[in-house]
Amino acid sequence: MGEDLERLKHRIPLLEYLQRHHWTGHRAGAHSEFVGLCPLHEETHPSFYVNAQKNLFYCHGCGRGGDLIRLVELSQHLSFRQSVTYLQEELAPTSQLLEHTAGFYQLELHRHPEGIHYLAQRGVHDPDLIEELGIGYARGGNLRPHLMGLGYSLELLLQAGLISSPGRDAFCRRVIFPCRQHHRVVNLYGRSVGSAFPHRLLPHSKGGLFAWESVRQFPDVILVEGLLDLAVLWQEGFRNTTCAIGTHLTAPQWTELCESCNHSIYLAFDQDYNQAGQRAAQALAQRLHHVGLNVHIVHLPTGHDPISYFAAGATKSDFTRCLDEAESL
Ligand SMILES: [Zn+2]
Repeated sequence: MGEDLERLKHRIPLLEYLQRHHWTGHRAGAHSEFVGLCPLHEETHPSFYVNAQKNLFYCHGCGRGGDLIRLVELSQHLSFRQSVTYLQEELAPTSQLLEHTAGFYQLELHRHPEGIHYLAQRGVHDPDLIEELGIGYARGGNLRPHLMGLGYSLELLLQAGLISSPGRDAFCRRVIFPCRQHHRVVNLYGRSVGSAFPHRLLPHSKGGLFAWESVRQFPDVILVEGLLDLAVLWQEGFRNTTCAIGTHLTAPQWTELCESCNHSIYLAFDQDYNQAGQRAAQALAQRLHHVGLNVHIVHLPTGHDPISYFAAGATKSDFTRCLDEAESL
């Protein structure tokens, strides 16, 4: 383990890591020392020093210092072990590849009106939110030349599931949401704007709950099925909304949701005519209730999910009333 850690730190030099995460430092003195603003807290005067030779940092502002793993622990709020995994994933070529793919689709959104048009029609129109969520558009048929132009091999594209074996793009005419975990893209979700099956994820893990890093700070958490539901709720100011992409929670998502017994969870699943969403909400609510969480089931009018509810003319106060009237367990 010790040797592996040394190798890991050697493969990701501290200074390079910081620069990749948008840190700017200036040379301080003659040696390999750099100084800049501390990434661990707000400050106006640079007090964060990096010794590029020793691969160590120290901040005179907050008194914290250490190596790369320590920096990840502090900046990403991860345990030692999680930080090591995080760094190992940083080295994985697919991680960079998904980042580039998400970036490409984000630019494409502004090149083809279809994507923006679809979002607007569903009620998602705030340009700042679209930018913040990194929503993109996959026209289909143009991803491969772009990524291969960046030097990625066809084999890696196939392995990542971005291209199918006949050579077609996995996403075609879909609005794309990057799924991030600890600020890194772990998957891409594509919502069809045409007649194809509506939902598509790459064959990777869904990752944790969407935007859990920010949502976990709220005492009340709203859990929805879909990323479009989340987008419209965020747009309406319900920033305490997270999403599991579907009604089934993976083990990491379950752990996140259970991590604090101080949270009240509001399940706002689809109100399906065939009762599928309602049954899933009941089952999940029971499980959460069982482990001691404060759970509420939100009832929207039959046939609606949060996005269609707003598209049908509901307002912020209508949804707030649904939350107030939610069924408690
Ligand atoms: Zn500091």
